[in-house]
Formats: sequence, C-alpha cells, structure tokens
Amino acid sequence: MQPQPVAGAPEIHRNFIGGEWVDARSGAAFEDIDPATGEVVGVFPRSGPEEVRRAVAAAREAFPSWSRTPAPVRGEILHRASLLLRAEKEEIARLMTREMGKVLVETRGDVQEGIDTALYQASEGRRLFGITTPSELRDKFAMTVRMPVGVAALITPWNFPIAIPSWKIFPALLCGNTVVFKPASDTPACAARLVALLAKAGVPPGVVNLVYGTGGEAGAALVSEPGVDLISFTGSSAVGSAIAETGARLHKKVSLEMGGKNGQIVMDDADLSLAVEGALWGAFGTTGQRCTATSRIIVHKKVVKEFTETLVARAQALRIGNGLDPRTQMGPLINEAAREKVHRYVRIGIDEGAKLLCGGASHEEGECTRGFFYKPTIFTDGDPKMRIAQEEIFGPVTLILPVDDLDQAIAVHNATRYGLSSSIYTRDVNQAFRAICDIEAGITYINGPTIGAEAHLPFGGIKETGNGHREGGTAVIDIFTEWKTVYIDYSGKLQKAQIDTPDPGGDGDNSAGKPNG
Ligand code: NAP
Repeated sequence: MQPQPVAGAPEIHRNFIGGEWVDARSGAAFEDIDPATGEVVGVFPRSGPEEVRRAVAAAREAFPSWSRTPAPVRGEILHRASLLLRAEKEEIARLMTREMGKVLVETRGDVQEGIDTALYQASEGRRLFGITTPSELRDKFAMTVRMPVGVAALITPWNFPIAIPSWKIFPALLCGNTVVFKPASDTPACAARLVALLAKAGVPPGVVNLVYGTGGEAGAALVSEPGVDLISFTGSSAVGSAIAETGARLHKKVSLEMGGKNGQIVMDDADLSLAVEGALWGAFGTTGQRCTATSRIIVHKKVVKEFTETLVARAQALRIGNGLDPRTQMGPLINEAAREKVHRYVRIGIDEGAKLLCGGASHEEGECTRGFFYKPTIFTDGDPKMRIAQEEIFGPVTLILPVDDLDQAIAVHNATRYGLSSSIYTRDVNQAFRAICDIEAGITYINGPTIGAEAHLPFGGIKETGNGHREGGTAVIDIFTEWKTVYIDYSGKLQKAQIDTPDPGGDGDNSAGKPNG
C-alpha cells in the first residue's frame, strides 16, 4: 500500500518492488517541487544500491513466468493499461503540469502518447513477427524468432513523464522482459501513477519495479547491477555516454536517446506565416525543454527580416504563467538550476557577439515571482560556430542564422554534433527532397516544426544523439528482443551449408550437392 495522504501535507511515496510499495531502508527522501509555485507536490524515497539490488532481484524472479506468458496475453494487459490511462488522462495531465510545469494541452498530449503507445504495443502482441526464409539446402527449414532480453533497466528524463516511460515500459513488457524503472527525480509522481496503473491492469508482481533516487546513486547503481541485461536510457548526452561506457564494460545491451540541437530551415519560397507558427511552437513549446526543440532557425536572407520581425512579435506576446491556467501558453523551466543554465547561455551568446532581439531575462511578473519562469528569447546574427549554435540549452532560447541558399542552409544545419530532428519550410518539391536526402538527422519534417513525434513511427537520432537504436513503432522491438535464428533439418542426414549446397552452375567441386547428383 502507498501511505495515505495527510490533509494539507505533501503525499509520502514509496518504491514499488516485487508488487509491494516499500520504503527505502535508509529513510532518506527528496521533494518533488512544482516549478510554477515552489510548492511540494510529494516526498519520495532517495534509494541507493540496496533498493536497486532488491528491485533487480524481484525482476529476475518474475522473468521466467512473464517471458513464457504468451505475447497476445501480455498485449491484453497493455490494452487494459491503455483504457486506464484514458480514464485517468485528465487527472494525470494535471498532476504532470504541477510537477513539471508544461501547459495542460501539452500534458494531455503527453498522456495521449502513452495511450497511443499502449494501444500500438498491445496489438504488436499478435504480431511480434519473425521471418521464414528458404534454406539453401534441401529438406531444411529456416526461420527467426524474437526472444526477450531479460531484465531491462529503464532510466528516463523529466520532460515527458508519461510518454517516454511508456515508449520504454510498454514494448519492454510486450516483448517479455521484466523491468526496473528509475524515473527522473523531477517527475516522480507521474511515474507512481503509471506503475500503479500497470499493476491495476494485471501486470504480475515483480514484472515492473519502480525505484526512486538520484541519478548518481540509484541510477548509477542500476546501470552497474549484474542482474540487469539491458539498459534503455533517455537523457543528456553526457550521462548517456557514461552509461554506454559502463554498459560496454559489463556486456549489457545499451540503447541511448540523447540531446539535440535541432534546426528549422526557412527558404525564400516558404509560406512565411506557417514557418513562423512552426518556429514559435518548436522553439517555445514545453518552454524549449524538448530534445527536438527548435534551437536554430536557418533562414534565407531574402526573407529573414520579415520572418524575424513577425517571430519576435509573436514570441513577445506569448502568455507566460502557471500551466494549469488554460490561458497560459508557456510555463516555467523545470527548476532553478535550469533557469541559471539558460541565463548562462544567454550571457555566452551576448559575449560571442550574437544580437539579442527579445527575452534574455527571468520572467518575474504577477503570479510568476515564485516559479522558475524565463522570457522567450531570440538571438540573431549568429555564427554557426558559436556555442549557442552548437550546445543544447534546453530552454526557451533560439538563434536565427541567415543563409544565402539551400546548400548553405543544409551545411549550417549539419554542422553540429547532434542529429535528432530537423525541418524545412519550402513550396519547392525539389528543395524538399534535397533536404530529405542531405540533412543529417533521424527525423525530417517538411513544412512542419521540429517537434511532434507519433507513436507508431521510429523516433531517435544519429551522431551524438543516439547509438543506433530507435524507439516507437516496430523499430523499438529490436531494442527489447534478441533474434534467434532457427534451422530445422528434416533430411535425416548431415548436410553442410556452403559445402553440400546444390551448385546449379555445375563448375564447383561439390558434386554431392548438385541437382539430382
Ligand atoms: P539527465 O540529467 O541526463 O537525466 C536523465 C535521467 O538519467 C534521469 O533519470 C537522471 O536521474 C538519470 N541520471 C543522471 N545521472 C545518472 C547516472 N550517473 N547514472 C544513471 N542515471 C543517471 O537528463 P535530463 O535533464 O533529465 O533530461 C534532459 C536531456 O534529455 C536533454 O539532453 C534532452 O535532449 C534529453 N532528451 C532526449 C530525448 C530523446 O528521445 N532523444 C527525449 C527527451 C529528453 P535524476 O533525475 O535523478 O538526475
């Protein structure tokens, strides 16, 4: 049982291990803070290696039975989870806005992505296709089947507190893995809701375990725990790289989804008002705290003046405030450290010689004095080599980079170490296809902003954004399964591949295998 809330006091939470809500032995705790008001949303256990070990042991124990549960039955449980998520959508969306600040329309969208993912993965239970293919030998059958990997350690960031855990937990379960989930410390309450809901949907004890705690303690302990077979991490490139090193040393399968420095290209033939709408949503949606946020806008010089003036006017008119207020268009940053980081980058941009057009300061008017608000910030006259053009700021800051033509636009776009999302606004089909082919990114939008993934398509990036995996769609199944290749020889004799293979050309020396030979 979760402890019962005391009226007026923040709710006290526990880990979920082996189907039970349990305290961390140390008794240490941390607070979940509403970034719009500074209020405490809940209190959560600060777990260490001991809790992690118990959670991994529970997941190991549950693995044999869960992995043998037929995939369609596992899918049925996910289908029930989708219905519960739908029923609780509004309540969870409100909780999410309280604990991480983004506006209600966006937190509803976040939960909806969880629903979509549950439905998609539920139906995958009746596919989970392998392939059958001819053998090169007579009287021999060849096929592949998918095997679960084992115990999956899932580590998630705070900016999509339901969607990103859903992208990992649902396919992991569908594929027959058991899970230890370490959510971000800034959004622990949504994680509790999701895990409670899965238990209610019929996920057996030990199949999903939830351990709270800091990245440096619980997260690091989970990554190096010997009982973990697979690590799926979404977060910063710095933490992801360290996890990859540990994972490689310990021979674990590691999937990483990391940072971005996404660019929107605006050509001189673009529908400019559409391009402004896209840039506004891409740069300032979720207060710029999306891995796919539009942090660079690469604009043809012929239209840069008009585009910039309109974008600045629209950005300055955005209504900033508590995301629970339906009139709010942009909420706070996640915490004070994030606000300080954003402001540090604004100072860097000014020092580097970029021209600040708007924003560049905290927003502390009216009800916003207690939260971590920052004004929408736009720089122009940037150079692609500047730090603000290269490094992920993860806040409401974007930089306009003027260019002469498409070649230069694509070159500027590609001149970063990241490769997650990208976009081009143009009415010219030739330019659009050039961009599709030449832009270095995992995702390219034509006449749409850099943000807005759909659950049934692959999601992820190249270069330092990822390590070759994709979440979403059927691509995620490759993360959470291992291929097994099966050969069935029903000839009743020893047949040697490549040696006894029939030789239709007749010029080899494998006469024993020649047709009719
Ligand atoms: P982060 O600091 O890297 O943290 C991500 C997760 O890792 C959190 O649960 C964190 O725990 C944990 N962690 C931190 N240090 C760890 C360690 N040494 N060992 C194991 N786990 C550790 O990232 P964030 O600030 O939460 O999220 C923002 C970043 O995520 C941005 O770079 C953004 O681009 C990226 N992101 C990428 C995608 C994508 O799909 N490509 C999607 C969303 C976000 P604590 O919370 O306790 O620190």
